[in-house]
This record gives sequence, structure tokens and C-alpha cells, in this order.
Amino acid sequence: MRPFRYQSLPSRVVFGNGSSRHDLMSEVDSLGSRVLLITTKRAEALADELVAPLGERLVGRFTDVREHVPQEGADAARTAADRARADCRLSIGGGSVVGTAKSVAVQARIPIVAVPTTYAGSELTPTWGVTEGGRKRTARSLDALPRTVLYDPSLTVSLPAGVTAASGMNALAHCVGALYLPDTDPITGLVAEEGIRALAAGLPRSVSSPDDLSARADALYGAYLAGAALAVVGPATHHRICHVLGGAYGLPHAQTHSVVLPYAAALLDVELSRVAAVLSVPRAADGLRDLAVRTGAPISLAEIGMLSSDLDEAAGLIAAQGILDAPAAREFLAAAHKGRWEQ
Ligand code: NAD
Repeated sequence: MRPFRYQSLPSRVVFGNGSSRHDLMSEVDSLGSRVLLITTKRAEALADELVAPLGERLVGRFTDVREHVPQEGADAARTAADRARADCRLSIGGGSVVGTAKSVAVQARIPIVAVPTTYAGSELTPTWGVTEGGRKRTARSLDALPRTVLYDPSLTVSLPAGVTAASGMNALAHCVGALYLPDTDPITGLVAEEGIRALAAGLPRSVSSPDDLSARADALYGAYLAGAALAVVGPATHHRICHVLGGAYGLPHAQTHSVVLPYAAALLDVELSRVAAVLSVPRAADGLRDLAVRTGAPISLAEIGMLSSDLDEAAGLIAAQGILDAPAAREFLAAAHKGRWEQ
């Protein structure tokens, strides 16, 4: 066996149907007494229901959450937190919500309790980021890592099929990276394999039967493992390409991962033999593409709003970051833009 290093991160996880109702108060109580709620306008009614038992301990709320955390959004959230003199942040929502909470936490060093409602996995990582001038900057800090995460599958039944599929592909991407990047280790490898197994079992059923709590639990369990794997390894090739495209062209995060992942996997082969084995296919890239097609996840950059006129510039940005060389980046983007797939 190769020598390895493994560092577990100090997150507490509570997983179970109804946990956002049964366990939220005791988890918040152990971390703070003045709570700032961060959520979206979409989730506000649900969040109000969940936080009602807090009473006067709820001292403020921030709902102007934007994807990719623009610097102005991070600043506004920080102002809301300062004004409320909060000593705990409660984030209820997807990766954009927890990303906003993280951007505040790294400045104010105040703990986050996260209740995720998508499969993004950000709640388990110390990575945080803000977008400014069309560029997304990320950094790692333990201050950004939520102290407690409550996974409640029943909160995900409202996820539309398209978001379920794309967000699930985003989680799969985390697991794939954790199975080939040089900074992975045997424990993270096991976590990633089990994550792929759970996601591949849960996602198609969650799309066809959104209210199936057992399917939703499989998918969310897979997303949890994917987030845990992502927390250990650095960003993989697909992740770095998605950051360029998301930052420069405002493409939606999960949907971009969904398109890019199979193409990035096709650049690898033996490195992804464990992914292929879990998916029971000869080539990982084909298995990932097949899962995207079966769940109705996006499979072309054109369908998620990328203009063909931006492809050359995007290839230049990818090459400038040393992710792929310029001709390879152009070829990659041309195929992914059209959704052209060669087995
Ligand atoms: P998101 O949080 O923007 O949510 C996507 C959409 O789904 C939104 O319209 C939201 O309102 C809706 N939604 C969320 N939960 C819902 C529910 N239960 N029912 C119905 N609708 C729901 O997207 P995301 O994919 O969860 O997160 C993307 C962001 O997270 C990006 O900014 C990305 O960079 C970041 N991210 C960060 C990390 C990290 O480690 N730092 C990891 C993954 C993602």
C-alpha cells in the first residue's frame, strides 16, 4: 500500500427524515444564542416554519442570496450579520446559501449550522469563494466549515427533476475527483465509491418519483459522502473548468458540472477504473454520460445558456489557467457545447 495522509474534519452530521424539525433546536442551542438565518426567498416559508421554535433568539435574516456569491452579496450578508450581532448562522438551502454563510463566517469567525436542500456538498467543505469581475476566487479556511450539518431527505422532495438531476451529477463529480486526484487516500476512496453507489441508486428514482423518501435518502446520503470526499481532495479537472465557465459566463454551477463531467472523465481512462466498476460499465465516462441522459440532466453547454461566440475566449481562459492546452480546450468545449458524444 502507498503511504498516505488522512485528516478528518471537525463537522458533526445528523442524518434522518425529519431531523430539520426534531434536532435543529438542540443543535443550534449548543452553538449560539443569537441566530442569523440565511436562506432564499424561495425557501423562506419553509425556513420560517423550521426556525419558529427559536422565538426571540432569531435576531435577523438574509435572503438576498445569489449563485456564485458575488462580492456585493457577501458584503451585504456581512452587514446583516453585524447589525444583528449574531453569534450563530443558520443556513437553510443549497450551495448558494451555504456559500453566502461561509463568506460571512470567514470574516466574523462565527459558527454555521447548515441544513442543505440540494446535493451540492458545500456544507462539508472548508472551501469558500466569492465572484468579482467575472472571476471566482476560492480559498480554504476551517472558519468556513459548518460545525453541524443536518441532512433531512424530506426537505429535498420539492427539488424539481431538473435540479435533482443536475445537482446529483455535481455530487458525482466530487466522488470522481476523489478517486483519481493525487491527494486522495484509501479512506476517501471508500467514501467516494459508496457515494457513487448511493447516487447512482437514488437519482433515477428521485427523478421519476420525487416523493419517494427512500430514493431521496439514498441520493442525499450519496451527496453527503460526495461532500466529505470533496473536502479532502483539491478541485479536479472538471471542477476547475466549471469554475472558469461559471465565473466568466454566469453558467449555473450544478448544470455546468453535469455537462462537463463526462467530457472531463473521457480525458482519463484507467484512472477512473473504480468509477467504472461501481457503475458496472467498461468506461467511466460512458456510465456518467448515460446517468446524465437517464435522469434528464443537461448534456450540452448550449442548453444551459453558453453562447458559441464565447467558446474561443473560454478556451483561452482554460488554457491560461493551465487546465488544458489551447487546442485541447477548444476541442473539449466544441464537443461539450453541442453535446456531441463519441463512445
Ligand atoms: P443553489 O443553491 O443555487 O440551488 C439551485 C436552485 O435550486 C435554486 O434556484 C434554489 O432556490 C433551488 N432549490 C434549492 N433547494 C431546493 C429545494 N429543496 N426545493 C426546490 N428548490 C430548491 O445551487 P447548488 O447547486 O446547490 O449550489 C451551487 C453553489 O454552491 C455554487 O456557487 C457553487 O460554487 C457552490 N458549491 C460550493 C462547494 C464548496 O465546496 N465550496 C461545493 C459545491 C457547490
